[in-house]
Amino acid sequence: MIIPHDTYGPEYLLEVYDAETNMRGFLVIDNTALGPGKGGIRMTPNITLEEVFMLARTMTWKNALADLPFGGAKAGIVFDPSKSKKEEKKALVQAFSKALKPFVPKKYIAGPDMNSGEEEMQWFAEANGNWRSATGKPANLCMLVMGKKGSKQQCGIPHEFGSTGFGVAHATQVAAKHAGISLAGARVAVEGFGNVGEFTCKYLTEMGVLLVATSDMQGAVYNENGLDFKKLLAFKKQGTVTLYEDAKKLSHEEIFELPVDILIPAAIPNVITEKNYKNVQAKLIIEAANVPISDDIEGKLAKRGILVVPDIIVNAGGVISSYAEYRGYNPKDMFSMVKSKIVKNTKAILESAKREGISPRASAMKIAEERVEQAMKTRK
Ligand code: NAD
Repeated sequence: MIIPHDTYGPEYLLEVYDAETNMRGFLVIDNTALGPGKGGIRMTPNITLEEVFMLARTMTWKNALADLPFGGAKAGIVFDPSKSKKEEKKALVQAFSKALKPFVPKKYIAGPDMNSGEEEMQWFAEANGNWRSATGKPANLCMLVMGKKGSKQQCGIPHEFGSTGFGVAHATQVAAKHAGISLAGARVAVEGFGNVGEFTCKYLTEMGVLLVATSDMQGAVYNENGLDFKKLLAFKKQGTVTLYEDAKKLSHEEIFELPVDILIPAAIPNVITEKNYKNVQAKLIIEAANVPISDDIEGKLAKRGILVVPDIIVNAGGVISSYAEYRGYNPKDMFSMVKSKIVKNTKAILESAKREGISPRASAMKIAEERVEQAMKTRK
């Protein structure tokens, strides 16, 4: 793939290498009109500059839509989790961080992504010596900040706190109301019981939905009378939610065709496709994972009368939490910021889509592009 250069960017395409650790990494800073480029570090064996660019561009839109003073960026380190020891991983993250030192945090702020979490963010921040160079750091990693009113401690807010799933639950609440579905007792299936899926299930069951199905790498479980969230958690700790006794075991794919009101893909990309979209029975789909459905299939689902709320709106809780951490908020204030932004943005996108007769994704993209273009015109 040739990386396209257009009105928006990318501003920097960087490939870095460290001979001592054999670290190969990438950084793409797509657009910084709204602020420093923000996006996580993906650590996978086959990561490429092209993949990092596509993810960076998505971050440009996601951050603009969340109304954050962040531009779009993403990073990647070539890393095979099945072959590396912790010390080797740490050395890679440290070498990558040192290579990026000229860019952080003015042009780029790191965050967690696939195979990188709070510990990696701590290694990253410590290696380049700047606490603000990464978000998603551990809660006990703090910095004393001197201000007008005296000194104050600012601490990390790890993604492990569940801000993304919390945001997904609030987006679902808004969208259900918009679609005329009563959340109390609504039948919900959540694909993937990982970080995003687990917290989505937690907050939605607290809001009163009937969680009837979920899944993980081993398969799916379904009980039309509902699954108990605490039991699911216990089985996840034992290795897999598929250990749940009082439920039917289904394949990964069957979860998308269940008789539910709301379907939430929260694990892997491209799960609703040409092959299965006609069998979807849900009236509302909330895209918690990144790109679970292509634009084309989203259009076909809309023709079937199914409302699809796009990933760039729904799963922005993580990046909103990053901003809260960057600003030195405590976890309580972070959660209230995630809620207010997700509620406001989901409402705005759904209402403007309805008003203009376009899809929620088209409406979201229109707003994001306008915000970035406006910032590009006015930036010094
Ligand atoms: P995770 O690694 O914590 O969890 C992924 C879950 O998916 C695991 O439970 C895994 O067992 C399950 N899984 C894997 N293959 C599956 C399959 N074929 N069928 C069903 N389940 C399967 O990842 P996560 O952080 O929860 O991320 C999930 C999705 O959300 C990804 O698309 C990610 O890019 C996106 N996302 C995450 C965040 C965040 O803050 N974590 C923010 C924005 C977007």
